[in-house]
Amino acid sequence: MSNFQGKSVLVLGGSRGIGAAVVRRFAADGANVTLTYAGSQAAAEQLAAETGSTAVVTDSADRDAVIERVRESGPLDVLVVNSGVAVFGDALDQDPDAIDRLFQINIQTPYHASVEAARQMPDGGRIIVMGSVNGDRMPVPGMASYAVSKSALQGLARGLARDLGPRGITINVVQPGPIDTDANPENGPMKDLMHSFMAIKRHGRPEEVAGMVAWLAGPEAGFVTGAMHTIDGAFGA
Ligand code: NDP
Repeated sequence: MSNFQGKSVLVLGGSRGIGAAVVRRFAADGANVTLTYAGSQAAAEQLAAETGSTAVVTDSADRDAVIERVRESGPLDVLVVNSGVAVFGDALDQDPDAIDRLFQINIQTPYHASVEAARQMPDGGRIIVMGSVNGDRMPVPGMASYAVSKSALQGLARGLARDLGPRGITINVVQPGPIDTDANPENGPMKDLMHSFMAIKRHGRPEEVAGMVAWLAGPEAGFVTGAMHTIDGAFGA
């Protein structure tokens, strides 16, 4: 028997990487899953066909489109806000529009999507946002905007947990360390530096993060809210 039979799950940013693993996990556990994508239409449609989920285009940089997508999804049992981007480079040289777009995708969309989902969510619903261990520890230069955005999600979870707790709705942040995806391939140039910070010297797998998301969304985690859940091989320890 699966935990999520018939449950309604929306994964924002579910076409690739960690988001795709989350989609696969919930679909395998019996949920009715909708995933959003922006650029990766082919990957999204293939994943939807493989898993029996539904893929819809929604740009997480477009606040009103995200709110509309969440509203149209109806009462969600689980919302996962996974879409996220990084902008690398010297903070003094970066295009402020690129930084604001990052803040839109990584901070404002998780906020507005969570609030919108809560309007129709049944009691006991689950909201999970994808943070990063970089919300706690940023050991390299050139990623301040990303660190800002992932730290902001901690405040989001702490604050909304208070608003939604009376309805038994939980909100939690999953904080991965290096995970082997297109955004951070294990065979990339940063591998040795990243592994030097870690106790378990490998990248995590998207499926390992999806397992934590599924636990937080499941019946055993009803008392877990407003909290950060790090899965990082001790990158941040
Ligand atoms: P990938 O770049 O591999 O995948 C990103 C996913 O987010 C894709 O499905 C992409 O969809 C979607 N996405 C990005 N921008 C948008 C947008 N504007 N609108 C809709 N969807 C969007 O990233 P990861 O899987 O590695 O990362 C997923 C999350 O995990 C992010 O929040 C990231 O910050 C976080 N994270 C990742 C770590 C890692 O080491 N990989 C470590 C810590 C945190 P599409 O291609 O269709 O645009």
